[in-house]
Amino acid sequence: MNLFPIQIATPDGLLYSGEIERVKCRTVTGDLAILAGHCNFCTALGMGEAYIRLEDGTTRSAACIGGMLSVMDGSCHLLATTWEWKEDIDEQRALAAKERAEQRLAGADLSEREQKIAEAKLRRALVRLSVLK
Ligand code: ATP
Repeated sequence: MNLFPIQIATPDGLLYSGEIERVKCRTVTGDLAILAGHCNFCTALGMGEAYIRLEDGTTRSAACIGGMLSVMDGSCHLLATTWEWKEDIDEQRALAAKERAEQRLAGADLSEREQKIAEAKLRRALVRLSVLK
């Protein structure tokens, strides 16, 4: 099995550094999987489920909310706006965020900005909940 090095970080710090078999995540243009030997590459990340597969076949899932991914000379760097490993996601918090956002969107008189914020909060909550499924 071919492995490649990856570093996963957020503005709060390094979350993972090691050799993996595959990383899959959502980009702004669709789902992306990176394997060893990928050409040099850079893309903006969207909101969605992500996972890394380790050498022993273990998969670690996460919620990834935006950021950048690059591959340079065989090394992958993923800098996410937020990245929460499945085991760190607080389900009750995500459910409460979903409910708040839905209530807000159901209300009248939202400005365009308020609507966009509520929609983004709803999408983040839905991504977190989908990782927990
Ligand atoms: P909330 O309204 O619950 O704060 P949010 O989508 O507005 O949700 P973010 O602004 O995306 O929250 O995240 C703020 C911080 O809280 C980030 O560090 C993020 O990783 C963390 N976070 C948000 N929701 C959860 C959750 N359900 N479980 C674990 N961490 C979370």
